[in-house]
Amino acid sequence: MAVAYNKRTHRCGELRASDVDQVATLSGWVHTVRDHGGMAFIDIRDHTGIAQIRCTDESGAAFELARSLHNEDVISVVGKVVHRGEFVNPKIPTGEVEVLAGELDVLSRCDALPFQVNEEKLETSEETLLRYRFLHLRRPEIQKVFRLRAAIARAIREFFNDNEFIEIETPFLTKSTPEGARDYLVPSRVRPGAFYALPQSPQLFKQLFMIGGFDRYAQIVRCFRDEDLRADRQPEFTQLDMEMAFVQRDDVMEMVEGCVKRIFKEAMGIDIPTPFPRITEEEAMKRFGIDRPDTRFGMELQDITELMKEVDFKVFAEAIGAGGVVKCLVAEGAASLTRKVTDGLTEEIKGIGGTGLPSVKVGEKDGAIELTTGIAKFLQPMAAKLCETVGAKPGDAIFFMPGTFADVSKYLHYTRTQLAKMLDVIPKDRWDLLWVIDFPLVVWDEDEKRWFSTHHPFTAPIDEDVALLDTDPGKVRDKAYDLVLNGIEMAGGSIRIHQQEVQKKIFTLLGISEEEAKEKFEFLLDALRFGAPPHGGIAFGLDRWAMLLSHADSLREVIAFPKTQRAVCPLTNAPGPVAADQLDELYLATKLPPAKT
Ligand code: ASP
Repeated sequence: MAVAYNKRTHRCGELRASDVDQVATLSGWVHTVRDHGGMAFIDIRDHTGIAQIRCTDESGAAFELARSLHNEDVISVVGKVVHRGEFVNPKIPTGEVEVLAGELDVLSRCDALPFQVNEEKLETSEETLLRYRFLHLRRPEIQKVFRLRAAIARAIREFFNDNEFIEIETPFLTKSTPEGARDYLVPSRVRPGAFYALPQSPQLFKQLFMIGGFDRYAQIVRCFRDEDLRADRQPEFTQLDMEMAFVQRDDVMEMVEGCVKRIFKEAMGIDIPTPFPRITEEEAMKRFGIDRPDTRFGMELQDITELMKEVDFKVFAEAIGAGGVVKCLVAEGAASLTRKVTDGLTEEIKGIGGTGLPSVKVGEKDGAIELTTGIAKFLQPMAAKLCETVGAKPGDAIFFMPGTFADVSKYLHYTRTQLAKMLDVIPKDRWDLLWVIDFPLVVWDEDEKRWFSTHHPFTAPIDEDVALLDTDPGKVRDKAYDLVLNGIEMAGGSIRIHQQEVQKKIFTLLGISEEEAKEKFEFLLDALRFGAPPHGGIAFGLDRWAMLLSHADSLREVIAFPKTQRAVCPLTNAPGPVAADQLDELYLATKLPPAKT
């Protein structure tokens, strides 16, 4: 007789001793089945957990059926809940009880599996896991990630709802919004030769909402960026996008702090103190060599250019002579690192473009500081002064970097991050939230010989710096704010330009001609002509939040059907070829590179 599987009385993980003597109907997947001759045990699983089903001779037809089951068959069972007596399994929440099968129904059979869903530790390749992602999703640890992700999204929605934001959708088939990546293009069938761009962000639309009088907008929205193959990027990703009118930086930052507080409370049960500390981009670069510093540990960069002028060491003298700097960081206890480790680090620095990583170990001899290894002989004459200045003590190591400010920052940031991992100084379960503000509005690109926006071209300059736009644009700071969590950029936004003249000026500075500005952004410039309130907003990468809070190692783990690093979906095989008539309809032909031999 068929079991009324849609009338589940319990979820598999819910049964407890208090349910004993009840008749339960459970439905789910066969996690394991064990045939003990006169008795068969099935572990049945759904997203809440596992329950044990016992089938005996008394189970009638169900017994024979049970013995024919395979892992991942879908079944329904009706039976009495009984106590397991001396066979209690304290390892699972339902372990005190089991269900004595009365009726059993096989709802669907499972073929030979590409990997065992119930395997303790999966050794399967990522390609296979993504190819059979629907099976992978059944695993409890993956289920947990998506439930956390949903809790984050829920907290965000509730927060913005409570704060009178309204959710409005923005178009996917649109024109390019410059966020620094390549666009995904969609050909138009009805306007041959014309293309839509998928949005890199809803930036301009949300600004238009403010000009359109909506005051507060928030949307959880998909964005698309065709970026070069970088370690952990996805061509499509989700962001919480918001915008507010009649606000200053502090208003937006305060609102975001409230939202982040809510996320941590509701998704993690953690109370996060607000307001978050703030640091200027300039200070972040000086102290950490990066504009999104991980502040969970020290090892800050120290500028010792002045001190190093007293030292007779050609490499440093040359860097200083060329207008550069010498900086260092002190790694506590790193004198114990082996030569192999420090040599390895030096090679890595060379691998990212540096020339080396001079260092010394700090020791003690006859009560005085003794420097050893590396460039010790050059620095020994001023050993005591150096150690006092940088706060190094015996047992530590000092790593140096001479060169331009930009290079030194890059290499010492890398060194700091690697050393922190090697020396295991990053505290676990710590959430360091930090605002980075006052970025340069534009940066000069020596290769292209032009200015680029640090954020995007709609970011407002700081009022008192506006005069510098004509004389020294590189000195102009912007009204942007990036939110950093444990060294990862989690959100970024800004106060926008709301005056047409300023916006035009910025386009000109960025080398965007009047025609180009008109072609691409006429609607924005128009909107700015017709009464634009001051406004600003931010966007959070939802995928990154899910990744960090679930301690996942990659964005791919927190996206249901992600693309691989080659931007391919192994499940659907997208992207794939299309039929010739589809191309014809679009007036398109493909021009492929010559096949590699
Ligand atoms: N549009 C920006 C981004 O996607 C965020 C913002 O400025 O609000 O990064």
